[in-house]
Amino acid sequence: MAKYSTGGVGGESSDACELCGAEGRQLRTATVAGARLELCDDCARHGDEESSTDDTAEERKRRKRAAQNVARLGDAQKVETDWVEKTDYDDDQLPYLVSGYGDRVETARQEIGLQPDELAAELGIEQADLLAVEQGRAPRAGVGGSVIRALEERLNVELVDE
Ligand SMILES: [Zn+2]
Repeated sequence: MAKYSTGGVGGESSDACELCGAEGRQLRTATVAGARLELCDDCARHGDEESSTDDTAEERKRRKRAAQNVARLGDAQKVETDWVEKTDYDDDQLPYLVSGYGDRVETARQEIGLQPDELAAELGIEQADLLAVEQGRAPRAGVGGSVIRALEERLNVELVDE
């Protein structure tokens, strides 16, 4: 945990490094993830070294806000990553689908005169999966590749972009 110096800015060379706690070392001011810290040489290399030591409280606040913004960005990216990974977490991976695959399935199903529940029952697949494919949201719905292959075969359409 970073502790904040209560003394004035600069002039205190006997403090411990605020990152690793090393004492009796030459400290320098560095910015790590937007926080201004007094660091030893080793730790300072991880931060953006600053030449100026006379920044104001307002400046510190601004930096803190910037760091918080970066943290929020990081969270958003993490959510997106989880979302992508969710689609291929098992062995039945969804292949890369052609654009308009949903319309192809729906049209072909209507041409053979089957309702979604009838086609799903015939192929032994979940009706929810079939509808997800027809609505073009197969990746989000976690539809398996085997469902796509079964639909391709039964409807004689090409859905996989190879
Ligand atoms: Zn250190």
